[in-house]
Amino acid sequence: MSKTATAFGIEEALKELGLKEINNGTSTGKDWFSNGDIIESYSPVDGALIGKVRSTTREDYEKVITSAQTGFKKWRTMPAPQRGEVVRKFNDELRRLKEPLGKLVSYEMGKSYQEGLGEVQEMIDICDFAVGLSRQLHGLTMHSERPGHRMYEQYHPLGVVGIISAFNFPVAVWSWNTALAWVCGDACIWKGSEKTPMTSVACQNIAARVFSENGVPEGISCLITGDYKVGEYMTKDERIPLISATGSTSMGKIVAKTVGERLGKSLLELGGNNAIIVTPDANIKNTVIGAVFGAVGTCGQRCTSTRRLIVHEDVYDKVKNAIVDAYKQIRIGNPLDENNHVGPLIDKDAVKNYLNALEKVKAEGGNILVEGGVLEGEGHESGCYVKPAIAEAENHFEIVQHETFGPVLYILKYSGDLENALDMQNGVRQGLSSAIMTNNLREAERFLSVEGSDCGIANVNIGTSGAEIGGAFGGEKETGGGRESGSDAWKVYMRRQTNTINYTTELPLAQGIKFDL
Ligand code: NAD
Repeated sequence: MSKTATAFGIEEALKELGLKEINNGTSTGKDWFSNGDIIESYSPVDGALIGKVRSTTREDYEKVITSAQTGFKKWRTMPAPQRGEVVRKFNDELRRLKEPLGKLVSYEMGKSYQEGLGEVQEMIDICDFAVGLSRQLHGLTMHSERPGHRMYEQYHPLGVVGIISAFNFPVAVWSWNTALAWVCGDACIWKGSEKTPMTSVACQNIAARVFSENGVPEGISCLITGDYKVGEYMTKDERIPLISATGSTSMGKIVAKTVGERLGKSLLELGGNNAIIVTPDANIKNTVIGAVFGAVGTCGQRCTSTRRLIVHEDVYDKVKNAIVDAYKQIRIGNPLDENNHVGPLIDKDAVKNYLNALEKVKAEGGNILVEGGVLEGEGHESGCYVKPAIAEAENHFEIVQHETFGPVLYILKYSGDLENALDMQNGVRQGLSSAIMTNNLREAERFLSVEGSDCGIANVNIGTSGAEIGGAFGGEKETGGGRESGSDAWKVYMRRQTNTINYTTELPLAQGIKFDL
């Protein structure tokens, strides 16, 4: 263990989570087996090796899918509230292990310890939600046009759900999907990010233990490990009716095509290019807090990170100066140390992308307001620590049109009416999160109206990041159109069936059609 890992209790956390030096990356809940290559997981915090996980081979995968299909047949017949009770017990374990799991998330992914704990809290919240949901997986009853007929719809479990997730929310996104899918009666196979394999094994350890203690059939919580090739085992597999994929838009386009070719369903949660509009009526203090947290939190690696700040010319200088000043107070360093605001990027490729973005914005005529750069020296040995940067730019710049997955904030100026700001805000290919800072009711309502934000999430007087699990989460356009988490997002994990029952002695046909024999 490295000095940092020892100082911040990582060894104890790994032990509590049942992790070893070399872990199996393939599990059906009961059995663990892996014959594939080894993936080494290095921490972006200090560059140290955390552990190793064996990836899943094609043969391993066949065992997993067979087990999931078999388990599903039993699980689907268990009453949903009983399935909810299992999720409640799983949640008890999450509550007990919140600290070690939050710590591992922070150490393996690089987000602050507070955000690591927050991620586990999201798991806890969605499980609570799912437990309640298990008693209300309701359909509608409609009046039939035919006498003596009853018509209603009901939801049945879908089958085996494949979950592919990104590195930046290594545990929460899995639980958003599984907690709902489990109470809906589905079996889940999860492929987490190859960049955070230890957290995946830790989560599967918890689920496997709770499930086997509570008589859940094998195969209801499965784990597979590896890169996109392992993900393709699932996307190409017609035994999996739903693929929920979270990650980049380029990944989503490939997944959508592959799953679409076999007429499977995909739930896509892809990249964002989120903006905050700051109007002349904005509360500047709150704007600064919301924008800075949105831009630098998780080192700019949230799908909902604030990438663009669209500021009215009347308050432009005031907002710009306040934000530049606030950036001077940001402390960058070990994310396990709670004095720091910003930890490292996930790896050196991410550092390259971040540096490229800064070069590009300069080349396109942008004006750097806060210089970026890579931090070196003591405490930054991993080479993944960078300085959050700000550039004045224009919305049409190619780099501004793209999602740069790092702490680069573009400030854009608008003049005149709110419509001009909305044109900029909506003038990108992504449609995940958006926000307006204003105390003007007319502006706020217009932003939320049919002519306003075109995103899946539209906030007033809060930033773009930090969604709660109670609402449906997701975005439009190149963000993929999927919805996870709260509200009625559960419906995607079930199949809908419309039932019509004739309790008469006649056989009247719909639309009054006569067919006498
Ligand atoms: P990524 O697209 O590189 O990888 C995501 C996952 O997809 C990984 O598990 C990867 O192995 C898998 N994958 C990649 N290509 C695949 C293929 N062809 N077939 C099957 N699986 C494949 O993304 P990342 O770098 O891990 O995460 C960052 C991205 O995720 C950002 O764009 C971010 O905005 C997005 N994201 C979106 C949301 C959301 O809810 N909208 C949430 C988190 C992250």
